[in-house]
Amino acid sequence: MTLAEIIAGRIAAEGPITVADYMQECLLHPTLGYYTTRPAIGGAGDFITAPEISQMFGELIGLCLAQAWIDQGRPAPFTLAELGPGRGTLMADALRAARQVPGFVEAAQIVLVEASERLRGIQRQALQDHPVAFLPSVEFLPERPLFLVANEFFDALPIRQFLRAQGHWQERRIGLRDGALALGLGPEMPQPFLAHRLADTKPGDCVEHAPAAAPIVTEISDRIARHGGAGLIIDYGDWRSLGDTWQALCAHEKADPLVDPGTADLTAHVDFEVLAIAARSAVTRLTPQGLFLERLGITQRAQALAQKLSGAALETHIAAHRRLTHPSEMGNLFKVQGLFPEGQRPPPGLNV
Ligand code: SAH
Repeated sequence: MTLAEIIAGRIAAEGPITVADYMQECLLHPTLGYYTTRPAIGGAGDFITAPEISQMFGELIGLCLAQAWIDQGRPAPFTLAELGPGRGTLMADALRAARQVPGFVEAAQIVLVEASERLRGIQRQALQDHPVAFLPSVEFLPERPLFLVANEFFDALPIRQFLRAQGHWQERRIGLRDGALALGLGPEMPQPFLAHRLADTKPGDCVEHAPAAAPIVTEISDRIARHGGAGLIIDYGDWRSLGDTWQALCAHEKADPLVDPGTADLTAHVDFEVLAIAARSAVTRLTPQGLFLERLGITQRAQALAQKLSGAALETHIAAHRRLTHPSEMGNLFKVQGLFPEGQRPPPGLNV
């Protein structure tokens, strides 16, 4: 059976499903889901992420977290965690760079929160020099200082989409039309958690909501607030969701999310306001990725690496630096939000 047939069967039995239910099936179905069956990330996959563009990204994240660890008195042991580590590249680069900071790697207990069994295998390989523990979700994170990064993790969480009607909302649903998957709208209903959005939206506007996002931030920020630590959430998105940002990417091209479910990466922009409200720790100002990386010294690092390169490798390296930082590339679209304990210094590169 294909995933399309499984989803069609579910709709025939239950009626139209939410976009979130559909995303959950497409991305995380145990045998046919996208993260189980596809190469997904990297040049040969469907999309490329910052750590796959250049080693500089993971290195600077590693040094940022190591400096936050020094600023907080070098707690040991501590959890060094990543949510949705993909191919494990970011963590491998971070650990290599952070080795310059005496004691950091030795005190770190590496924890990866990863849903895909296949990606866990790839991550284990990428980090074979280090003991790593895998967790299915953040509730299982140990109760101790937590230094954490999540790059392009929150955009993969299933979203619900609501279209503003007059005083109420209609949820977008996926049903069947002539046997094929089709978008439709549920009945007009009040949505108490969107009450505050009636003031800044007009009929026809779309607001997205990722039900899993806020509880995840509450869990991690609670540990950071109580035991110390720092969190870096990096993703595309902005303050307060407005508009339909749901997209499918297949082989680096935009695709129709309803065609061939399970074969394309499905994402949506992250609403950082919701994350900030859910946090139990202090939260930094939302900072564009380009500015954050510049503050951490990406230009100096790029120049140092360039010394050893020439020809095509140098061209690729220069293009990678630009891609990560330039406002017309990832520099502005991607944002960084930091979590840190009240009364402590925010993680380097970020401010309040
Ligand atoms: N951070 C990586 C990969 C981003 S892709 C990078 O920057 O390259 C999203 C990652 O999150 C994948 O590893 C995927 O398997 C994982 N993921 C998605 N939803 C998840 C969930 N609900 N729980 C745990 N991991 C999840």
